[in-house]
Amino acid sequence: MKITYIYHSGFLVESADAYYIFDYYRADFPVTDADKPVYVFVSHRHPDHYNPYVFEILREKKVRRMTGIISYDIKPRNYTSHMEGVEIIAAEPDKEYTLDNGALVRTLRSTDKGVAYVVTFDDGGVPRSVYHAGDLNDWVWEGEDERVNKWMTGSYRKYLTPVEGMHFDAVMVPVDSRQGDDMFRGIEYLLEKVKADAVYPMHYWDKPEVIMQFAGKYPQYADIIRYTEDRMDRYSVIEDKNPREIVLLRGSGCVYKKCTFCDYYSDSGKDEDVNYMINRAALSQVTGKYGNIEIINSGSVFELDKRTIELIKKRCAECMIHTIHFEAHYLYNNRIEDLRREFADFELKMKLGLESFDYDFREKILHKGIPEKDPEVISRNFDEANFLFGIRGQTEDGMRKDIELGLANFERICINIMCANSTGIKPCKRVIKKFVRNIYPEYKDNERVDILINNTDFGVGD
Ligand code: SF4
Repeated sequence: MKITYIYHSGFLVESADAYYIFDYYRADFPVTDADKPVYVFVSHRHPDHYNPYVFEILREKKVRRMTGIISYDIKPRNYTSHMEGVEIIAAEPDKEYTLDNGALVRTLRSTDKGVAYVVTFDDGGVPRSVYHAGDLNDWVWEGEDERVNKWMTGSYRKYLTPVEGMHFDAVMVPVDSRQGDDMFRGIEYLLEKVKADAVYPMHYWDKPEVIMQFAGKYPQYADIIRYTEDRMDRYSVIEDKNPREIVLLRGSGCVYKKCTFCDYYSDSGKDEDVNYMINRAALSQVTGKYGNIEIINSGSVFELDKRTIELIKKRCAECMIHTIHFEAHYLYNNRIEDLRREFADFELKMKLGLESFDYDFREKILHKGIPEKDPEVISRNFDEANFLFGIRGQTEDGMRKDIELGLANFERICINIMCANSTGIKPCKRVIKKFVRNIYPEYKDNERVDILINNTDFGVGD
């Protein structure tokens, strides 16, 4: 199951065989498999929860099977032309519905308009359960009549009774900063009453800082709070060559930032608390399946915060991981020994972003910032290296030479094919064609060579 925050209270939940969209308001979302059915849930009629244009977006994405689960407070006369031809289930409070893929939908009464949803479904053999509150919340307001606030709290607690004691893979709950000191009342009570593996604060009106405030005030939930705004895929498993888990973490950002072909250092942030929350969520998915993990960030491992480094050690030890792969720029060459000492309980494999052994190409065109020419010196502290192919000026002989030198000087190499990005360095179709036709077949089965035709081929990033 994969959960993507869309905007405000909008989420996309993808299971093995379906998509579930909750409270679409605005912004695009990644429905990429048009063969899967899409179930669109609308909790109530407020315009920040009900935007029927979502069905038009799904049509543009060539989705064929769509069902709307529309709260009863939206009357059929308020359905729009975008909903024509869509099967609609009008959802009443405190009811159960079975969708045509077998998913079970349970509705709760709301303290505002409409309903909240509990959806239970099969995810490739794994039972899943998610809760989306809509506007079901403890809407206590400062200055409101005390009796009204008391009634609100009582109603909120009563309406949640059906889910008490339940386990959820994920809960999506309002944290509305307009409530001031009372904004955590609803989420706090819910988390006391249910067991949630992940909690996504929502409805915070573009003020994501409330997530950090919540995390600071309730450290007991530190491991389950998700930084809703983070939309990156941060965890994947590489099953074929050198099987391993791979995690994309967030650091303070590349200190070098001069490589002419690179614009992916934007996945970074100066707020260590936010980075740590994102990293903790990513690392919580690690299972230790292969005892082997690759940990990357947009930059070098030395740009991860101290708490994240400690968490990596802890998580890897818990999951019986024996080998950790990190990446670093050459400018950190003299810190690698210390890092190996710090991770003495693990076998550390250090990967260098080398791109090419051709000094002139690497330094005059790519501005890689590696002053050495001698392959033996360059590889001294590194076990693995990245190479970049598919740029104008590269020849078949040159690429072959890089691969052979790479295999002679490193344990493993990873070939990245240049992809279009916002930099002035463009992929060259002619060079890529040469690589794919003449070189790729020779190395595609080589256990020591990873080849990434697209930069998301490892399953992380965006
Ligand atoms: S390729 Fe790596 S070292 Fe170079 S600018 Fe990008 S993140 Fe920094």
